Amino acid sequence: MSHVVIAIDGPAASGKSSVARALAHAFGFAYVNTGAMYRAATWLVLQKGVDPADANAVAATMDAARIECGLDASHESVIRLDGEDPAPHLRDPAINQHVSAVSMVPRVRELLVARQRAYHEQGNVVMEGRDIGSAVFPQTPYKFYIDASPDVRAQRRSAQGESDSIAARDSVDSSRRNSPLMIAEDAQVIDSSRLTIEGVVGEIIGRLKLKDFPMPATARLTRA
Ligand code: C5P
Repeated sequence: MSHVVIAIDGPAASGKSSVARALAHAFGFAYVNTGAMYRAATWLVLQKGVDPADANAVAATMDAARIECGLDASHESVIRLDGEDPAPHLRDPAINQHVSAVSMVPRVRELLVARQRAYHEQGNVVMEGRDIGSAVFPQTPYKFYIDASPDVRAQRRSAQGESDSIAARDSVDSSRRNSPLMIAEDAQVIDSSRLTIEGVVGEIIGRLKLKDFPMPATARLTRA
């Protein structure tokens, strides 16, 4: 692999997004939020009045869509579908409710995984999701699985003021046939229940050092 990928997977509300973003900024890497890509697909499906449970219709909707992925000025992933930026809608309750159904459609994953891999062709990335270490970049030696107790995760999500049945989403995400949420065999597991974001980032940096990770000279975090 020419560029470096740090894969960060974990269940809903485990803290992986905040950790992945902080790590990417510290290293000067791009931050790619693959959950936002699946959420964007769900937004399009609902926008077009397609039934999220109709896998063929969902696949056809995504096949017909113009998918544009890029990075914003902060080096964070952005996605536009048919020229529209769905970012303001991605945490809507309807998206939380239907995103797992849309994400299990193989064609949706195929289209979005190709975009996820394309980010890596352009530079170093921290990428977070459910299957990054297990399916998108199984060859990366730098993979982490961030977990937290169900209580802590439910508290974090309600503190964000969101209506989100995370247990239901986790159950569908973990039991689907295609690239389920799982701990990759060679992933390092970190329980974030009692840690701050900085604490988890420090832990990851410490473990990367042990794996002879090529630490960027510009790394702005000195913990660990
Ligand atoms: O990370 P986030 O909670 O925003 O992800 C939303 C949903 O997108 C997940 O519940 C899952 O259904 C789907 N997802 C996925 N694979 C990924 C990232 C997210 O299936 N790599």
